[in-house]
Amino acid sequence: MANKKQGKQVKYIFVVGGVMSGVGKGVAAASIGRIMQSCGFSTTAIKIDPYVNVDAGTMNPTEHGEVFVLDDGMECDQDMGNYERFLNTSLSSANYMTTGSVYLSVIKKERSGGYHGKQVEVVPRIPLEVIDRINRAAEKEKAQIVVIEIGGTVGEYENLLFLEAIRLLKLKHPTDVAVVLVSFIPALGAGGTELKTKPTQHAVRNLNSVGIHPDIILGRAGVPLDQKRKEKIQFMCGMQAGDVISAPNVESIYDVPVNFEKDKISERLLEKLALRARKRDLHEWSRLAKAVKTMKKTVKIGMVGKYFGSGDFVLTDSYISVIEAVKHAAYSCGRKPVIEWLESEQYEKSKSGLKKLKRFDGVIIPGGFGSRGVEGKIRAIEFCRVNRLPYFGLCYGMQLATIEFARHVAGLAGAHTTEIDSKTKYPVIDLMPEQKVLLKENRFGGSMRLGAYDCRLVKGTRARAAYGREAISERHRHRYEFNNQYRELLTKKGLVISGVNPERDLVEIIELKDHPFFLGTQFHPEFKSRPLNPHPLFVEFIKACIKGK
Ligand code: GLN
Repeated sequence: MANKKQGKQVKYIFVVGGVMSGVGKGVAAASIGRIMQSCGFSTTAIKIDPYVNVDAGTMNPTEHGEVFVLDDGMECDQDMGNYERFLNTSLSSANYMTTGSVYLSVIKKERSGGYHGKQVEVVPRIPLEVIDRINRAAEKEKAQIVVIEIGGTVGEYENLLFLEAIRLLKLKHPTDVAVVLVSFIPALGAGGTELKTKPTQHAVRNLNSVGIHPDIILGRAGVPLDQKRKEKIQFMCGMQAGDVISAPNVESIYDVPVNFEKDKISERLLEKLALRARKRDLHEWSRLAKAVKTMKKTVKIGMVGKYFGSGDFVLTDSYISVIEAVKHAAYSCGRKPVIEWLESEQYEKSKSGLKKLKRFDGVIIPGGFGSRGVEGKIRAIEFCRVNRLPYFGLCYGMQLATIEFARHVAGLAGAHTTEIDSKTKYPVIDLMPEQKVLLKENRFGGSMRLGAYDCRLVKGTRARAAYGREAISERHRHRYEFNNQYRELLTKKGLVISGVNPERDLVEIIELKDHPFFLGTQFHPEFKSRPLNPHPLFVEFIKACIKGK
């Protein structure tokens, strides 16, 4: 059941939630992964989502948060982005599963006679399939430690079968499995200082009722847990001394691993897993976390899009990779980014608001779908082009920059993407013929360009200088493409095509000469930016923003 590779027993750290969701379980799991890595163990991370959707591709980002895309095209939960950023690695679809995907493979196996006439029971078949998948991911990533985050909170009906997988695994391999409960500790009283441990006690009972006891409790609270509270949780929840770790709110998520280590989480986990640290190397990370806090100078970025949802939570969750990529690049330039969200529809009503864009050091238009706010975005792009304000377009932001250029520089009045105007005279952004067939048959799923594609960068361009090499690979998630029929005309008028996919001759990057920074990518560079490895195009953009000042 457990996986032994090259004489090394794989160790499993499960991260489950208590009391309520949305308290940063993903960042906690990613941080634990980073810490284990810093102790010298090859580590990977898996996300289990309890919903029936087979992947996250069909989910609305304003409800569920950003759809993150992996190299192999897997559309998954944004937590996978946290894992990649914290572990500084690229993961694959083997590291992501949902209730839907697990059932789907069990049903497929049953249909093809894979169970040899046996009755296929939900227990143990489903939990065993979960364990198999975890082991396959560990093997693929050559990981000795696997951190597995289970979505939702304990006590919910939805994640019971995943908890059963933990129970089965721990029963057979007690020293190879550790369970971390991330539990919310609410505060009462004036100023919210009286931390209440009762809900956590109930969460532990809930876990106990399915045959699991936590090895570590991470107490998520507004403030650090004092010794008294730790002792209370320890006593009431049957924990050993030192196994209740404080997880207070933080200024930046980079502080999380550093904070956990203050309470010696690695020592506690390694002891439970019968491992000894091979090294302790969180220095680079700690340095970044510290530097972020002391940065004084800022760089102001205007993010132009359609209705971004209400409240910061929605915004940050739908565009988390873009925000993170801006942060990584800005931090590497010694600046704190200040991001403002600008509703593009306002520029459709009146052009006067556009002038206010001058308050920013640069403008980003991130990915998007549909027609709302599109003309406003095009106006904002025109403003950036004409006023020499740094502009960075990501996917839709690149397509709309192409349209703006076609309309206002190349004289193709009414140029558009066929996503919005199927009858446009100048379809500068269009579907490829094979996609048209798929869409006619209502096969939306197969019609997207998803995952990593190669791109060749053209000598002498800004993109090539930023990356410092010719061959790159970046991740995609879109249906429409730059229409090659307009390539000659648009380049004649001055549009620079600086990146091309060699297999299918697709335009991947456009840019303008004689502009402080005007560049758009058909791909999503934000998916590959990492705190200690910022994305070169974001860095180049931020540098231009700073220089402009
Ligand atoms: N809507 C555009 C397309 O489908 C862009 C998608 C995106 O920005 N991810 O091609």
